[in-house]
Amino acid sequence: MASTNPETLALHGGSYRADPTTGAVAVPIYQTSSFQFQDTGHAARLFGLQELGNIYTRIMNPTQDALETRIAAIEGGVAALAVASGQAATSFSVLNLTRPGDNIVSSTNLYGGTWNLFANTMKDLGVEVRFVDPADPEGFARATDARTRAYYAETLPNPKLEVFPIGEVAAIGRKLGVPLIMDNTAAPVICKPLQHGAAVVMHSTTKFIGGHGTSIGGIVVDGGNFDWEAHPERFPTLNQPDPSYHGAVWTQAVKPLGPIAYILRMRTCLLRDLGAATTPFNAFMAIQGLETMPLRMERHCANAVKVAAWLAARRGVTRVIHPSLQTGEAKRRADAYLKGGYGALLGFELAGGAEAGAKFINSLKMFYHVANIGDARSLAIHPATTTHSQLSPEEQAATGVTPGYVRLSIGIEHIDDIIADLDQAIAAAE
Ligand code: PLP
Repeated sequence: MASTNPETLALHGGSYRADPTTGAVAVPIYQTSSFQFQDTGHAARLFGLQELGNIYTRIMNPTQDALETRIAAIEGGVAALAVASGQAATSFSVLNLTRPGDNIVSSTNLYGGTWNLFANTMKDLGVEVRFVDPADPEGFARATDARTRAYYAETLPNPKLEVFPIGEVAAIGRKLGVPLIMDNTAAPVICKPLQHGAAVVMHSTTKFIGGHGTSIGGIVVDGGNFDWEAHPERFPTLNQPDPSYHGAVWTQAVKPLGPIAYILRMRTCLLRDLGAATTPFNAFMAIQGLETMPLRMERHCANAVKVAAWLAARRGVTRVIHPSLQTGEAKRRADAYLKGGYGALLGFELAGGAEAGAKFINSLKMFYHVANIGDARSLAIHPATTTHSQLSPEEQAATGVTPGYVRLSIGIEHIDDIIADLDQAIAAAE
């Protein structure tokens, strides 16, 4: 597909055109655990990676492949790996480069689940995560040492919704030989982190890509733009013989296939061993959502700008957080990295603090009160008592969650109905 336009790629991008056997246009759900080999030679070539093809659905599947190649095309990457959840995608994106004793440097502005993964589970696995404030990109350089394997950040992180300095930190990393991994969950289409120097992009497809709140999923996209071979000491998992694959050196083994060492190793080792495979059905649901995602993003973004402006003028609202209302450096970054909209996420605070926040949530009639974002429906939540509740008060403060803060994910309903529901719920909380 020659187009680079996401609206077209979401429908036509990647490897799938029509089912080779039946001609089916919609991507079929290949609900099978395993695939018949043509003969023993074919089987041996597949296992030996001399030929890429389907073996077993824990490791690959044609429905997953259609999703992977389409999202890789939209992000401008070379290949992707679909997994069971966004959390699995984050875990794999880091574990693919790290061994006990290694570290990564992460932005402090993270989804609560990622914070827990990094602060606790990664630590238990022997991987240190060094948190730095993204307001100062040089903090990433200062936290880097010889055992630093990656930088990690979210494009448009809750709750501050300040766009991460992608180009600045990617450039620091490239100078030091450290790849930037971007969680682009909140900004599909409107941000293309690989274009700004990131090496890897991941998404929770549960959110805007799926778009209908039906299916958990995650994906990691390999930008194919990072020279792992140039830094053999920093990336032993890609540059040293892999005893689990007949001593294969991944940067060498992929030479006939393209710059896909990172994602191929993730598939053939991590997915094989840790098993966080998505299902053909969930991959199909993500594809269904993906096909209209660019169009939905337009409406999400347009509605959110209107809601932000309305809230900013509403009595009883003390603070509104949305990139469209930012000034200074935060706005400069929003304008530099977001194209076609400022995202659907929005935060605000009511004059009555935590009590008013809770009353507001309980008074909503159309918005759903759920621990999710990116649904076509409008959603609301009180982070301090839900998504960020497992964090200590200090950690909550570090991630920017205050007691009265309410988070909205603005849906694609008619703007008048969104504002009417907010208006009556704010009135009830006054
Ligand atoms: N990254 C971000 C920005 C998220 O908001 C979430 C989930 O809320 C995740 C990752 C984790 O994704 P999942 O819930 O699909 O595991």
